[in-house]
Amino acid sequence: MLTKVIEQSKIDHFTKWFERADKIVIVSHVSPDGDAIGSSLGLYHFLTSQDKTVNVIVPNAFPDFLKWMPGSKDVLLYDRYKEFADKLIAEADIICCLDFNSLKRIDDMGVAVAGSSARKVMIDHHPQPEEFCHITISHPTISSTSELIFRLICRMGYFSDITREGAECIYTGMMTDTGGFTYNSNNREIYYIISELLSKGIDKDDIYRKVFNTYSESRLRLMGHVLANMKVYAEYDAAMISLTCAEQKSFDYIKGDSEGFVNIPLSIKNVCFTCFLREDTERPVIKISLRSIGTFPCNQFAAEFFNGGGHLNASGGEFYGTMEEAVKVFEQGLEKYKSLLCTT
Ligand code: 5GP
Ligand code: MN
Repeated sequence: MLTKVIEQSKIDHFTKWFERADKIVIVSHVSPDGDAIGSSLGLYHFLTSQDKTVNVIVPNAFPDFLKWMPGSKDVLLYDRYKEFADKLIAEADIICCLDFNSLKRIDDMGVAVAGSSARKVMIDHHPQPEEFCHITISHPTISSTSELIFRLICRMGYFSDITREGAECIYTGMMTDTGGFTYNSNNREIYYIISELLSKGIDKDDIYRKVFNTYSESRLRLMGHVLANMKVYAEYDAAMISLTCAEQKSFDYIKGDSEGFVNIPLSIKNVCFTCFLREDTERPVIKISLRSIGTFPCNQFAAEFFNGGGHLNASGGEFYGTMEEAVKVFEQGLEKYKSLLCTT
């Protein structure tokens, strides 16, 4: 049995909308990850099984290792089909905002979503949700939005309508947001849900392989290169890795190739805070990823130094300037946060 995480009044409210709606749009955040696509497609499969007209729209492309997911070909990319997407957003009865807590996280698409007269629901697990939806289902203690989608569908009384395809998407989101159930994954109910998803016929071992073990040779070589240049700050129990545009070019970088890199330095004994700085090839900006083990607040660090946010142990942000300047800001941050970093 699952505890009732989502408030009953919100389930009832959403169910009422759902029963009357026909056109439903699902949106998720920029640079969509496994949970963004997993939760969106998990909900998509359920809603289409109820004969709704459903469109999933994300701001930009998602990595190849998610493209096996059932329904992924139907995901509309806003940066390629803006006009069509704007029309769908404007004409929707309901817009479901999944896996993000602020309109900023969906870039230009935020203007269209804010301007639409559709009823809006947020289903998310990031702290401090902004108020731009009529119903806000926000649960930062739950490790993935995909898990919330499972809970929502079940509480609406439709567990039996979850298909194998839908279950695969939900499982993928739960798996990727917990690093294959290696962090944020001590809640025993996660394993009850997995058991229910297995009852739908998913092959969890195969999903793991498809997501984590289908990289290119050049990605592995890039990983070697990045790790060879890693900087370890023993006095702060921290580490930093970086990737410039030139390095990306020389290793035939494609979107998603550096997925997971930020976690690798955490496998060094005593390192409990890591930073990954990557020059964006499309915009003049450096993308920052931060990860920690324990109580170190990555989200606070990201907000203070990199105009970002996220979860306690996984956050991100952006930096406008050179790589050297970004590294300097990171190092200044280490000094400022010294007392909160693990001391061994
Ligand atoms: P990642 O390092 O995988 O890109 O992001 C980890 C988490 O940090 C995301 O799930 C998201 O919550 C948060 N995050 C990443 N980039 C940004 C950003 O630019 N702004 C904010 N507010 N949060 C971000
Ligand atoms: Mn998520």
